[in-house]
Amino acid sequence: MSTSPTRIVMKFGGTSVADLDRIRAVAARVKEERDKGHQVAVVVSAMAGVTNRMVGYCHALDPMADAREYDAVVASGEQVTSGLTAIALQALGVPARSWQGWQIPFRTDDAHGKARIEDVEGAALLACMEQGVVPVVAGFQGVAPDQRISTLGRGGSDTSAVAVAAAIKADRCDIYTDVDGIYTTDPRIVKKARKLERIAFEEMLELASVGAKVLQTRSVGLAMKEKVRVRVLSSFAPMTEQSGSLVVDEDEIMEKELVTGIAYSLDEAKISVRRIPDRPGIAAAIFSPLTAARVNVDMIVQSVGSDGMTNMTFTVGKADQARALAALEAESDVIQYGEIQTDSDVVKISVVGIGMRSHSGMASTMFETLAERGINVQVISTSEIKISVLIAAEYMELAVRALHTAYGLDAD
Ligand code: ASP
Ligand code: MG
Repeated sequence: MSTSPTRIVMKFGGTSVADLDRIRAVAARVKEERDKGHQVAVVVSAMAGVTNRMVGYCHALDPMADAREYDAVVASGEQVTSGLTAIALQALGVPARSWQGWQIPFRTDDAHGKARIEDVEGAALLACMEQGVVPVVAGFQGVAPDQRISTLGRGGSDTSAVAVAAAIKADRCDIYTDVDGIYTTDPRIVKKARKLERIAFEEMLELASVGAKVLQTRSVGLAMKEKVRVRVLSSFAPMTEQSGSLVVDEDEIMEKELVTGIAYSLDEAKISVRRIPDRPGIAAAIFSPLTAARVNVDMIVQSVGSDGMTNMTFTVGKADQARALAALEAESDVIQYGEIQTDSDVVKISVVGIGMRSHSGMASTMFETLAERGINVQVISTSEIKISVLIAAEYMELAVRALHTAYGLDAD
């Protein structure tokens, strides 16, 4: 790090606080930063596996459990780790105290189970830090307008950490996890994947949402909006100046790579509505019922035949497939389709990079690379900094490896 931050948020995920030895190691890590003269606030997740167990308890009693009571139960994991981490810090001679969401207060809306953050009060945490006491914030939880405990949705403690960092105007938000940074692609698939020193918020947002599950997508969106510099690093590897990856504003990236990373998403289902009489309004007739059924449509392609008939093909998340089908079938009189085909043996591969904005020819490299391997592209979608294709799932690894090489991302 070139500059020396004075105030940092350190967030520890479930595997980093999985047992008492890990919690002791976390406390030692926090003490280390504090000994360097930094002001530190800590945000913790529940111990690995605990939230899953709590969710299981709720659903075992009632699959439709009251979301407010669900929140009361699942938020408990973070309450435990915030207290334990404060105790572990005190045992090392570091003054510390735990903070629950309602004590801060960390205000959310009333969407219990997947609440959105409305406002995080920084004053009490800052006062705590001023007194030399390390605040240990329970992540994932807040307080809803009804004064009851709310939770932010699974993986939400990343977003808690970024929100706390914004509220106390931290110089950086360090997210400690079980991987040592953001890679050009999944290192389990491509041995030559490289760790990125820096990545732009926008790139991370695309990579997070297309399958690189390192950070909760919402946390990246919030970091971008609030301009919170995020560092992703491992709590298991020894710390060096080169540790981790920085997620930053693109102005902080000198050399804008054409392609920063390649992501894949297995959570795709393809739906083809076939042999529809082609007429104005047909896209609205298909997609409005899907919106009404809260189905998120991602990629879309329309192919028009010479016979006045058209086919509309699009993708949805696997969990939405059945709901999408039901919504379309309910409108069969209006849409007048010949048939609907579905395929969930598909994968979306995305190539992402802010350098794409100013360069052409990025898509043809992708198509040529896939064609050379005999991989058929079923659907294409693009944004300013991303090209995505849908291909048969069986070619996922081959495609990711080939593209990683084609875009010059392989490590030497
Ligand atoms: N403990 C919560 C979960 O497992 C929140 C988090 O870990 O980010 O989803
Ligand atoms: Mg997580």
